[in-house]
Amino acid sequence: MKGCPLACAWCSNPESQKTRPEIMYYREKCLDCGACLEACPHRELLEAAFPRTPEACAGCGRCVQVCYAEARHLVGRSVSVGELLAVILSDRVFYEQSGGGVTVGGGEPTLQAAFVSELLARCRREGLHTALETCGFASWRNLALVLKNVDQLLFDLKHMDPERHRELTGVDNARILENARRAAGRVGEMVVRFPLIPGCNTEASNLHSLGRFVSGQLPGVRRVDLLPYHSTGESKSVRLFRDYPLAGRPPLEREEAEQARDILVSYGLEVNIG
Ligand code: SF4
Ligand code: SF4
Repeated sequence: MKGCPLACAWCSNPESQKTRPEIMYYREKCLDCGACLEACPHRELLEAAFPRTPEACAGCGRCVQVCYAEARHLVGRSVSVGELLAVILSDRVFYEQSGGGVTVGGGEPTLQAAFVSELLARCRREGLHTALETCGFASWRNLALVLKNVDQLLFDLKHMDPERHRELTGVDNARILENARRAAGRVGEMVVRFPLIPGCNTEASNLHSLGRFVSGQLPGVRRVDLLPYHSTGESKSVRLFRDYPLAGRPPLEREEAEQARDILVSYGLEVNIG
């Protein structure tokens, strides 16, 4: 689902941050042929901004259709619940053979809570297992609406200190922690996911706070998935003409991930490194 209330410095899906459709531009493929300019209803604005996309762009996709070099990609489109369900059900055999199910992620799915809730309810009626990935920054009303139809909740935490959380993601973590407390015990299974970002949130004091919080305040939650940093978001940000605050940062050392795991295991948690 497109649209997210957070802007994490390490975001690996920057194309999911804005709710509206966007264009990703591949400089190395562009032939400078100008066909996109001819096709655009905002031709003068696109010409003035090129190769950036003007603010007025509503994502009609005409420029993408005429770009034979495939230098312009449209990210995001509107679909109905029925259309999306039909796509999901076309893979039913795969779900049955793998024992998998449907996971709704983003962006932040609870920004479109009514849509997601209906989609997951209809998936369940079709006998599919349902999972939700959330950053937890949502009104409780929206989160609770979606949770009614969720078998497994994948709840992301990023940093335990409110100020540092704000610096790294743009928002304070109070609402997120409160929602995690309220969500625990309301779904069949809840898993905490924690990205390990070198220089941002891997300090031992933060990991001890995380261990205390999950083991002491989230009844029934035993599993933490650690997600080591990778820099996929950097090249995507270039294609969207966005800043990437962690540009050039090396990947996490395996040793650091294992140290983080050991700290969390000392709180009685089951820890996976992704
Ligand atoms: S149509 Fe495609 S190849 Fe041609 S100028 Fe536009 S982006 Fe470049
Ligand atoms: S998506 Fe539509 S409005 Fe946006 S740049 Fe392309 S042609 Fe113009």
